[in-house]
Amino acid sequence: MRLVLLGVPGSGKGTQGEVLAAHYGIRHVSSGDLLRHEVAAHTPLGEEVKSFIDDGELVPDELVFSVVAGALDDAARAQGYILDGFPRTLAQAQRARASAPPAGIAVDAVVYLDLSDKVARSRLSGRAAEGRVDDGDSVIERRLAVYHHATQPLLGFYRALRLLRAIDANAPIPQVTATIIAAIDASAA
Ligand code: ADP
Repeated sequence: MRLVLLGVPGSGKGTQGEVLAAHYGIRHVSSGDLLRHEVAAHTPLGEEVKSFIDDGELVPDELVFSVVAGALDDAARAQGYILDGFPRTLAQAQRARASAPPAGIAVDAVVYLDLSDKVARSRLSGRAAEGRVDDGDSVIERRLAVYHHATQPLLGFYRALRLLRAIDANAPIPQVTATIIAAIDASAA
């Protein structure tokens, strides 16, 4: 099973990614977590990506691929993966389809967590108290704008490939999880 999660920041990709990975016994690969890990460990790559993350801007593709590729190679050899935060642009999606392991970074279904900016904003500003440096108000606005500009076009890309499954992400977490699992299992059957 190879899944991609799409949705505005705050739509629940990280939370659902973890729950779904446990449910299907697959790896949860979060590009944001991988990048933040590099920052926290003060690696050269971490030093390079820090300002992009802090400002709510996209990290350049080469750097993103360098952290995601290793994790995906491992996950692809195992039972599969759930990608959270990657691909994030059309260029990343096209390159992912074309690049390694055997037939590219394959995708069986794309789960779109549909949530308004208004609800996303209130969830993210609640999370700021938990200490993520990119959850301040102006950076939240920038991340939402970047999402609409750069990531939203992926909905059309994956819809055309008949992979997109839209889920109402307003519901409580367990209900969203159940809806996703039902949608994935129905399309896999
Ligand atoms: P969210 O979806 O809540 O914005 P993420 O953890 O997915 O949070 O991403 C946090 C930040 O990490 C992004 O704002 C961006 O700077 C960087 N990032 C993560 N994934 C990618 C990616 N695929 N391409 C470019 N930048 C990325």
